[in-house]
Amino acid sequence: MGDNVIPLVDQRLASTVPTVPADPGPPSGLLADRRGRPLRDLRISVTDRCNFRCSYCMPKEVFDGQYRFLPQSALLSFEEITRTARLFVAHGVAKLRLTGGEPLLRRHLERLVEQLAALRTPTGESLDITLTTNGSLLERKAQALRDAGLRRVTVSLDALDDATFRRMNDVDFPVADVLRGIEAAQRAGLAPIKINMVVKRGTNDDQIVPLARHVREHFGPGVVLRFIEYMDVGATNGWRMDEVLPAREVVRRLDAAFGLQPLQPAAPGETAERWRYADGGGEIGVIGSVTQAFCGDCNRARLSTEGQLYLCLFASRGHDLRALLRGTAPDGRPYSDAQVAAAIGLVWAGREDRYSELRGGAQAAPASGERRVEMHYIGG
Ligand code: SAM
Ligand code: SF4
Ligand code: SF4
Repeated sequence: MGDNVIPLVDQRLASTVPTVPADPGPPSGLLADRRGRPLRDLRISVTDRCNFRCSYCMPKEVFDGQYRFLPQSALLSFEEITRTARLFVAHGVAKLRLTGGEPLLRRHLERLVEQLAALRTPTGESLDITLTTNGSLLERKAQALRDAGLRRVTVSLDALDDATFRRMNDVDFPVADVLRGIEAAQRAGLAPIKINMVVKRGTNDDQIVPLARHVREHFGPGVVLRFIEYMDVGATNGWRMDEVLPAREVVRRLDAAFGLQPLQPAAPGETAERWRYADGGGEIGVIGSVTQAFCGDCNRARLSTEGQLYLCLFASRGHDLRALLRGTAPDGRPYSDAQVAAAIGLVWAGREDRYSELRGGAQAAPASGERRVEMHYIGG
């Protein structure tokens, strides 16, 4: 084991099987990486498939009928996901986010939510469990998810104008269905609801003010709209800096339209800069993923659909936890929880990632022969 590189099922990315220490101690909950950053947030991708083809994430030309998505046998089962999440929780993770691909395409997802909702932190608290979805199936699934223990939800919505929305999802999906999904989530008691809009200059930046107005007027202060800078994730979206509309500019436009006042960050490691409408009409957030690096307190790990652990959204190499979950130790027995947890601890302790701080520099480039992981594979 150690540093050997083994191909994944579909050979799309490099990965390393984590080292299992000979004498694993119990997780302390005080894990820190090489930059002193704790591990608090685990994002779990439950499928690499999606019913949308947003050009900034899964452009149609690449993710077409010929594209080989992962076979069912490669995906972590709900039991494997829950076991892994439990080990991360022992290391200090308090927040779980289900994502994808489109997570609501994974069959019986509410059963996974139920299993995760039963987990407790070492001090006996329940976890903050949320889900990021394109909202297309939310109207049908919101109540079952809430009943299973989901607390809140983030819905991606890039435009209010139907033609713009259909163009951006590139499968002609109508915006009205997503808006109904958000209403269903409100009715089911999922709260707070966040709506994420990825802003591409020249594509949907004319939707910033109309969408903000719609959210204020139709959903009210319980729904927080957040604007995300279009990022250079993966290797397929043809990203260009001139298509990034800086978060500053989003704030300027909303301030001009409604009047904004700054708010304090909600929690350490929080990526969104928060603002509230001066008239009390609610809150918005901007996520300056490109123009304002926030690696300094990044406490997020990502688990891919097939059990690869990624330490950064821009990583090109995963750590193959599935090999430990399904493999056997040298003594022929399955790896114990203590062994897998200790291996995860070692991986995090060695983490140095800070892509956004290095963006554009030689250090930020993937190693030769490797390429960066795609967003639909590890989620946002
Ligand atoms: N399919 C679900 C959805 O769209 O909400 C979950 C997975 S999606 C990969 C997670 C989030 O990543 C979405 O909010 C999406 O808008 C965002 N995203 C994808 N590609 C992006 C990019 N290039 N820049 C910024 N955000 C991106
Ligand atoms: Fe699908 Fe979400 Fe990616 Fe859009 S952003 S293609 S909805 S995974
Ligand atoms: Fe975290 Fe990587 Fe994003 Fe920096 S670039 S904030 S390390 S995920």
